[in-house]
Amino acid sequence: MAEKPVVLMPEDVQRILGKDAQRNNILAAKMVAEMVKTTLGPKGMDKMLVSPTNDIIITNDGVTILEEMQIEHPAAKMMVEIAKTQETEVGDGTTTAVMVAGKLLENAEKLLDKKIHPTVITKGYRLAAEKCQEILSDIALRITPEDEDILKQIAMTAMTGKGAEDAKETFAEIIVQAVKQVQTEKGIDLDDIKIEKSKGNGIKDTELIAGIVLDKEKVSQDMPKIVENAKIALIDFSLEIKNPEIDTKISISSPEQLKNFLDQEERTIKEMIEKVKDSGANVIFCQKGIDDFAQYLLAKAGIYACRRVARSDMEKLAKSTGGKIVSNLNELSSLELGSAEMVEEVKHGDDTMTYVRGCQNPKALTILIHGGTEHVIDEIERAIKDGLGDVIASLKSGLIVPGGGAIEIELARRLREFGHSLSGREQLAVEEFANALEYIPATLAENAGMDPIDVLTELKSRHDAGEKNAGLNLFKNKIENVLEARILEPLKIKTQVINSATEVAIMILRIDDVIASSGDKDGKGMRMPSMGGYE
Ligand code: ADP
Ligand code: MG
Repeated sequence: MAEKPVVLMPEDVQRILGKDAQRNNILAAKMVAEMVKTTLGPKGMDKMLVSPTNDIIITNDGVTILEEMQIEHPAAKMMVEIAKTQETEVGDGTTTAVMVAGKLLENAEKLLDKKIHPTVITKGYRLAAEKCQEILSDIALRITPEDEDILKQIAMTAMTGKGAEDAKETFAEIIVQAVKQVQTEKGIDLDDIKIEKSKGNGIKDTELIAGIVLDKEKVSQDMPKIVENAKIALIDFSLEIKNPEIDTKISISSPEQLKNFLDQEERTIKEMIEKVKDSGANVIFCQKGIDDFAQYLLAKAGIYACRRVARSDMEKLAKSTGGKIVSNLNELSSLELGSAEMVEEVKHGDDTMTYVRGCQNPKALTILIHGGTEHVIDEIERAIKDGLGDVIASLKSGLIVPGGGAIEIELARRLREFGHSLSGREQLAVEEFANALEYIPATLAENAGMDPIDVLTELKSRHDAGEKNAGLNLFKNKIENVLEARILEPLKIKTQVINSATEVAIMILRIDDVIASSGDKDGKGMRMPSMGGYE
């Protein structure tokens, strides 16, 4: 009698085992890295992404490209995660992170071909990553918040080659001013810098507003357009008669009763507005609604009001104007009011916005990006965010490194030296780790139309000769001391790249079995990794 088969998994589960699983995952990771490669560096190209609904994004930003691509392959998705982590941790360096991870895996494949076991490779990679962190902290240079010029150079390095290139000096100035203004003893919170966009004018008109710009118009046309010397009330309750939580019935049997009832409502509103007036406020930002009658009374009193202001904006307004968000009308007094030189309604093309400007020592402020089209503005926003991320990262740790590939070459050189102290096979892995880092300067050169091999050879020989800051200056397409050329980046970009790229490479290398259920009817199951849309 035949033995009964043992059934572990349902029939529709697919499985890739051993080498095939590894190769499939590595291939996917390589493809992701390949996708973003041409965007790296100041001479990198942009990509145009078109969504199913025909929305267009034109960008050079690694994480944006990968997020928009709707990648499905599980290993490729892990690569996208690296970019996202890089984006949240630093805000820049996303392309670099994905490329290093892709190259680590590609190089690991070579070692696998030489019959080196994955655990040896992962151990070597781990050792190399640790050593890199050590070398990085040795090379990094210290800066202080007073080094404004250096901070500006860091912002400019972040924006070089993006849509923001033409106005990068203006932007760098704005970024550094903004970051220094919102810095407190507690540190720097990126959330305190609001980015608002306005279509119309050119990108060079982008401005730093010492206050908050709200994408809101005043609730009534009868309110003043401009309020100077603004005294601002911030309230998070509505200026209307509260709707009862549960349905209530009111029985009214005569016109008299109806009138009484309405009078009563009116009186309540009137009392509310009286309290606002008594506080001395001439501007009011309300997180909830303001009903018609309240609007009328406010306008009559010459008070500027906006309603349904987002909570996040309310908090920024508080930090900016020095006011307090009040939750109970009885608590509203002159002490709770914020102040600003001016509150103003401004029309730009189709948009009407409220500017709160001229705040004294604002702890939250706005970068208002101007630009001709939405695509331009969006790309500028991404570039400015890279700049902000880099300046904040530099200030937080106070440590920076030379860019233009100099740091990668130096890391690779010292890693190789370190490799000599290891056993044969791990040494090979460390060597491949070093090669992966050199992929960054090689690609910077290639994207600029230079010969990557020539560039790498010269860079390596100059580093061997002790020029540890020799890197590619792509303003001149020349190898020189990039520290002097002021091509600078925060240390944090590099430490984060090494960390997340190594982690993901190791994670993918350790997989030798992919089990995928083939998707049940409600679509919750996993699908077998195909190559998505790139086959
Ligand atoms: P990422 O998404 O990784 O930040 P970028 O396209 O912003 O990718 O490119 C960053 C790389 O470009 C860094 O290695 C940086 O040192 C380099 N870079 C920036 N400006 C210059 C320059 N003027 N010359 C050479 N390299 C530069
Ligand atoms: Mg960048």
